[in-house]
This record gives sequence, C-alpha cells and structure tokens, in this order.
Amino acid sequence: VKRVYTFGNGKAEGRVDMKNLLGGKGANLAEMNLIGVPVPPGFTITTDACIEYNKLGKDAIVDLLKAEVEAAVKNVEALTNTSFGDKNNPLLVSVRSGARASMPGMMDTVLNLGLNDDSVAGIAAKSNNDRFAWDSYRRFVQMYGDVVLGMKPESKEEIDPFERIMEEVKERKGVDLDTDLDVEDLKELVTLFKLAVKEQTGHDFPESAWEQLWGAVTAVFDSWNTDRAKIYRRMEGIPDEWGTAVNVQAMVYGNMGDNSATGVAFTRDAGTGENIFNGEYLINAQGEDVVAGIRTPQQITKEGSLRWAELQGVTEEDRVDMYPSLEEAMPKVYKELDAVQKKLEHHYKDMQDLEFTVQDGKLWLLQTRNGKRTGAAMVKIAMDMYREKIIDDKMVLMRIEANKLDELLHPVFDLDAITSAQELARGLPASPGAASGQIVFFADEAKKYPVTILVRTETSPEDLEGMVVAKGILTARGGMTSHAAVVARGMGKCCVSGAGALKIDYKERVMRIDGKVYKEGDWISLNGSTGKVYGGSVKTTQPDLDGDFGHIMDFATKHTRMNVRTNADTPKDARVARDFGAQGIGLCRTEHMFFEGGRIKSVREMILSSDENGRRAALDKLLPYQREDFEGIFEAMDGYSVTIRLLDPPLHEFVPHTEAAQQDMATEMGISLAEVKTKISDLEEINPMLGHRGCRLGNTYPEITEMQTRAIIEAAINLKKKGVIAKPEIMVPLIGTVEELKMQNDIIRKTADLVFAEKGDKVDYLVGTMIEIPRAALLADKVAEVAEFFSFGTNDLTQMAFGYSRDDANKFLPVYLEKGILKTDPFQVLDQEGVGQLVEMGTQRGRFTKPDLKVGICGEHGGEPKSVEFCDSVGMNYVSCSPFRVPIARVAAAQANI
Ligand code: ADP
Ligand code: MG
Ligand code: MG
Repeated sequence: VKRVYTFGNGKAEGRVDMKNLLGGKGANLAEMNLIGVPVPPGFTITTDACIEYNKLGKDAIVDLLKAEVEAAVKNVEALTNTSFGDKNNPLLVSVRSGARASMPGMMDTVLNLGLNDDSVAGIAAKSNNDRFAWDSYRRFVQMYGDVVLGMKPESKEEIDPFERIMEEVKERKGVDLDTDLDVEDLKELVTLFKLAVKEQTGHDFPESAWEQLWGAVTAVFDSWNTDRAKIYRRMEGIPDEWGTAVNVQAMVYGNMGDNSATGVAFTRDAGTGENIFNGEYLINAQGEDVVAGIRTPQQITKEGSLRWAELQGVTEEDRVDMYPSLEEAMPKVYKELDAVQKKLEHHYKDMQDLEFTVQDGKLWLLQTRNGKRTGAAMVKIAMDMYREKIIDDKMVLMRIEANKLDELLHPVFDLDAITSAQELARGLPASPGAASGQIVFFADEAKKYPVTILVRTETSPEDLEGMVVAKGILTARGGMTSHAAVVARGMGKCCVSGAGALKIDYKERVMRIDGKVYKEGDWISLNGSTGKVYGGSVKTTQPDLDGDFGHIMDFATKHTRMNVRTNADTPKDARVARDFGAQGIGLCRTEHMFFEGGRIKSVREMILSSDENGRRAALDKLLPYQREDFEGIFEAMDGYSVTIRLLDPPLHEFVPHTEAAQQDMATEMGISLAEVKTKISDLEEINPMLGHRGCRLGNTYPEITEMQTRAIIEAAINLKKKGVIAKPEIMVPLIGTVEELKMQNDIIRKTADLVFAEKGDKVDYLVGTMIEIPRAALLADKVAEVAEFFSFGTNDLTQMAFGYSRDDANKFLPVYLEKGILKTDPFQVLDQEGVGQLVEMGTQRGRFTKPDLKVGICGEHGGEPKSVEFCDSVGMNYVSCSPFRVPIARVAAAQANI
C-alpha cells in the first residue's frame, strides 16, 4: 500500500476528492498545487497509516513508512534546493495534522522542524539574519517541547513552562512584545527552554533532524486521541476510527523581517455571510501568532481596517502608523492574495477560510478549506451564491447543515432593553447572537452557575468543553480569527473577542474594566453582532424569519417527498409549528393538557374512583375540557391531519403527592384521606414504563377511550359547522398484540357512530396505531389488517429494543459513549442498525397487507437529520418533530430526497 502522497511545484499525487485518505488539509494542499496556487512543497502521510499506528505502535509504523518518507523528503529537498539535517543549508519543515473533517486547532502542529545548535547557524548565515534564525529556533524548541515532549503547565491557574520563562526574560529586559527581544535574548531563551525540558522530562532535547521528524509525526498521530480531540469529535459526530493524516511541508517564513508576514482570511464574512473579503495578518510573525492573540492582529483590507479602528477607538493616525491593512502595507501582495481568494472560492464554489504567509514579499498559501460559519452566514452565503448563479437550488439545500438552522430561531436583544443597558466595554463582533450570563474565568467551571459567560484573556483548544457549556464567550485578546472566534462561530455561539479594556486576574478571579471590578458570578451580557459588552442581564426577543430563510424553506418544499408534521399538544404549539411550515400534527399527547386549569381534579377523581360508575362520572366532567382542547388544535391545523394519541402514561403520574392535595381529593370525593392513600399506593408500580399504561388503560377501562373518542369526534363535527376542516387520526398507543388494537378499534368506531347519530352529521377519521413495542413491528402485517396508519414511536421502541430504561439511562449512557460501547445516544440518533430493522420491517410488512398504508414517525428522532434521512429511505409518508425542529426536519427531508 501507498502511505505517502507528495505535492509541490504544480504537481500532486493527491486531489480534493481524496479527503478520506489524505485528510482535508492534505487533499486541499494537493488540489491548490494542481490549480496553480503557490504552495510550499511537501507530502501527506495517510489517515490509514494513523490507524495502523494506533494498532501497531511507533516502531512498526516507522518501519512501514521509512522508505516512502525518505523518498518524499528527497523530493522536497530537490524542489527547495536544501538538505534535511544539513548544517549549512538545512531543509526545515512543518509537521501538521489534518483529519477528514476540519477540527480547527484541535490537533497539534510543529513548525521549523530540523533546527538544532548547528543548523541554526546555517540558517542565520544563509538568510543573513541572526534574529530570524534564533526566533525560529526558539519557536521550534517551544512547540516541539509542548506538542511532542509534553511540557504542559502544572495547573490551570499557571501558564505553561515556556511562557513563564518568556515572561521572566521579557520582564528582566523591560520589553513587552516578542518582537522586542534581541538575538542574545533569543539565544538565552533556547538555552533556558532546553534546560526546562531536561529538568521536566529527564531527556536532552533531540538534536537529530530525523529523530525530531519521527517524534513529531507520531505525536500528530497521538494528538488524534487527546481529550480535547475526543470532545470535539463527540460534539461534531466525527467517528473515532477515522484517524488523522500528517502533512510535512517545507517551511516558508513570515518572521524574516518587515517584508514578511502571516495571516488568515475568509472569502466572505463567516459571522454574517456578507460577501466581503476579510481577515487578519501580522508583520514579521509566524503561524499561530495571529490566531493565538499574542499581538493585536491587523486587518487585510483597508475597509476592514477602518471598521476595526472605529470599533476599537483607534485614531486614523495610529491606525495608519501602527496597524495598517495588508492592502496598504503590502499592496502588491494584497493584489495577489485577492486574486487567489477569488480563484479559490470560484474553484470550490463555497466560502473559503485560508492561511497564507508572505516570505520576503512572496505570497504562499498554506491552507484552504470550506470555512466554518454561523447559521445566519450559512443561509446568507448559500442564497447569495444561488443569486450569483454559482450554485443551484438543490446545492443550496445541500449546503445547509440542518441542525444549524436552530441558531436562527434563537432570541436577539430587545431593542429598548439594549439602548438603556450599561455598556462596559467594546470588543470585536466575533460571533453573532445575544447572551446574558454569570461570569466564570475557567472553562471547567462553566457549569458552576445555570447560565455562564466564559471570560478569558484568550481561549485555547483545552477550553473547548467549557465553551460548549457557556452561553457566550468574551476574550480580552485576539481578533476575528482567534481560537475563541473561530470555534464560537462553528458552534453558533455568541462571542466577543479582543475587548482590550478587560484586565483579567485569574488568581483573584476578577476582571477589571477602567478600574471597576467584576467578580466571578456577576451578570454580564454580550452582543456578538456589535461586539458590545453590557453589565447585568438584558431582555431578549424572538427574531423574524423571512428573506433568505424563507427562500430556503421554499426550496425544501420543492424538493421534498416526505411531509413534515409536528408534535404539539396545545393550539399555541400547533400555530408556532404551522408558521414554521408543519403540515399537520403527528403526535398530540392528550394527557399533556390534563394539568391545565381545573382538569387535574377530574382526572384524579377518575383515577381514584373505585368503580366504573365513579370513573364515568369523572370522565363526564373531563369531556368538555378535552373537546375544547381538540377544537383549538384542529382549528390551528385547519385542513391538515391531526394524529391524537389516546391516554398513554401510567395513571400514577397524575395522583396527588402532597398531603394537602390528597386531603383536597378526599373532600371532593367524599371519602377519607386514608382511602385516598390506599388507592394511591395501589397504583404504584415497580416498572411503570412496562406497566399499566398505553392501550392497556383503554382496554381495562374502555370508558376512557369512549370519552376521548367522543371529545375528538364532537370537536370535529362542531368545527365542520364553522367551516374548519378537521382531519382526526385516532392513534392507539403501545400495542403488542393485534387483539389489543381490535378491541380499541371497536370501541372507537362504536363511539363515533353513536356521536354521528346524535349529531346527525359525519366527519372522516382514521384509526391507527403506534408501533413502539418490538412485537408489534414483528406482527405488522397482521396489525395492518386493522390499522389505517402506523406511527413509529421510536422513543419507546428504542427503549424496548435495547432494554434501556429511558428514565435511568443517564446512569450508564455517558459512560457507554465515553468508552465507545455506543457511538451515539440511541435516544437522540435513531439506531439504524438495530431499531432501524424493526422500523423498516414493520413498514414493509404493514404495506404488504395495505400497500398504501400511511406511515410516519413521532419520536424525538423525527427532527434529527440523520434519522430523517433514514425515514425517507424506508419510504415513510411523514416525520413529526417538536415545533422548533420543523425547519430542520424540512431541510433534512429535502436533502434525503436529492
Ligand atoms: P491548524 O490545524 O491549527 O490550522 P496548521 O497545521 O494549519 O494548524 O498550522 C498552524 C500554523 O502554522 C498555521 O498558521 C499555518 O499557516 C502555519 N504553518 C503550517 N505549516 C507551515 C509552513 N510550512 N510554513 C509556514 N507556516 C506554516
Ligand atoms: Mg490551519
Ligand atoms: Mg410511547
């Protein structure tokens, strides 16, 4: 097998469609070579090699790779006219990770590899630039020490060992910036760094270039299994067994002096989606400097620079003097970069996120990828590209990450509230959205209060888990491309970065702004769209959803086969869902209305009655309430089908638990408190989820089914008189035998006929069942002899197929996910392999009996994109999900059909 793919000088063995093998970064480095974008030469070690490494270990993988890697290094040497490990004319490389799916900043990179005490002199002589050589060496020892040799800080309050040494040296010298250190300082740093390595690891820093290379390659492989990489994968649903590729690439130097620079750019605005080329760069800097927020980055375009200066309160004089844009500082390079960004966006037909370095006036591209973006930007960019005729409507839909639409449905700050709020500071609008919460200063404390804002000088990949939990993120340093900003946009989380007025003291757990102190636990609010930070909590309102969002919904309707319905229990939910485009109700849980108003008393009376007469008397009181509820829901869904599930939960859920409430019921029913208590304890079950519930209720107490049917049919007939079209579908829950359904079907039909006769009018209705007990799925052909429709209740079906109690699974599911026993939570993502068989088989067997049997799904899975795709593949008529997931399901349903 081939494990190494080379690229360079306009040639490449890889291509963009080889991401699985070469990782995203490697495939795109190859592709850029092929389309004539200047990229330093190098090679990619495949993701398969990473998987082999995980199985076989270091020695075996080095054996397997050695010949190919040595040949590939030769190729780079030839193209760059240098020699790896040579002391006079050394080839230096970067060693970079790159998985199939981009995991920004998740894994580790080493730059300037190949330097040692000899070759640093060679580099200095060759470049005629001592400072550059030693700055590169200092960076290399620092990165290699961190990534490969495990030199980490001792505790979260401490900075890492190298940073500490840097701080000490800078303080002694009385300088602020890395760039203010002179050659002698840098030499001292290298010595001190190496001493620290020897002290902490017990080994000398490796001098041999090849030893360095193999160390770095295997460290990149190892970085696939770090905690932060695992957390990121779980968050994004990236499988653990993909592995990462390793890219080894000739260095280009952005730290060679004032005619060199490094930067990051986006072809469009990743926050808002606007078609504006933007980004940040630093003169005389290398790699991560821009992202890490070590110095204040400068803007790429003049326009962006002017906007930035206004936000930061920087005068035009200072801006031009200290923070000029690339467009102003290096106009020739800027022109070239602008041409490259246009070329790349045109080639990939999507917004690109790129990394570049300028070495002594020459532009090099180091990375391009489809940029991470907010939900709002995702929608705007897709629709803009449609209008620009770059992509068609199907492509627009495929560009939508359905889950991300959720962000657009979230609240924004109320205009009045925000104008009267107290502004504390301004930073950069790094990721739009509105967030109020209590301050925490450490990522692992993000759960300390119910809603938190994570406040940091800057964030790093270690902070990921806390960033997921926090409502918003605020940093004192770093620009629009800082780690915090990029990750927040990826998560659609509100973020303000680079609020320079903030002085954070981790030890005291406070931040100071203009001398005022804000403690951990204080409330603040962030507006990620303007970069403003406010004191206290600010009121929010719902956003409006028209324009591009609406267009995308229209495209979804055009390209979908399945209908999308909603799960709604109240007229209000039904209306919300209808506004989101729901075409009917797939699940109306009647019992959810039992707790409203005076209903609960009658419900309790029914449950506590000792005989049928008592129950009937109580049910008579409930009837008008239920009828009224159904009228409201039918009206909201005028013309669309409404599936109503008959009473389902164990009755014990409705009994009064406090003594006062029990006494109340005793008085109401004219029985003693003791009798009430006895009745309640009689209702207790050891396994309520497998107990007296579902159709077992209606079959033991048929009067309940009679009352509910009557309420449904009467409501439908009443509305018919008002010109509203009600289409009830009466659904029998939790059947395991055909007889259970037959019995309920008889009661329903008899009751409906009775009501028709009484009212002298008729309406159409269906009787169907939920398929949620595995036995019902197995016998679906028989069930379909009675049922007019199936609705897969995949919550219970999952519970019963796995034998996992839904209410207790949180005791072991997180551990199962952690240990990889399960890949995903089966209650969130439908288990296609197992539970999916029941769904598929149930559908097929049902349709064997009734070819046009209507089939749908009403579990939580009905709004989960992967599960929706599965539902489409088994030929369901509709999916049903909670109102706020309707837009997501609509797009997922269309994608499944494209
Ligand atoms: P990440 O996964 O964090 O994007 P990268 O591998 O892209 O990590 O590299 C980190 C930084 O180092 C980036 O800014 C990148 O542009 C820079 N870099 C990587 N390789 C080289 C190289 N050969 N020459 C100069 N800079 C490089
Ligand atoms: Mg990168
Ligand atoms: Mg159920």
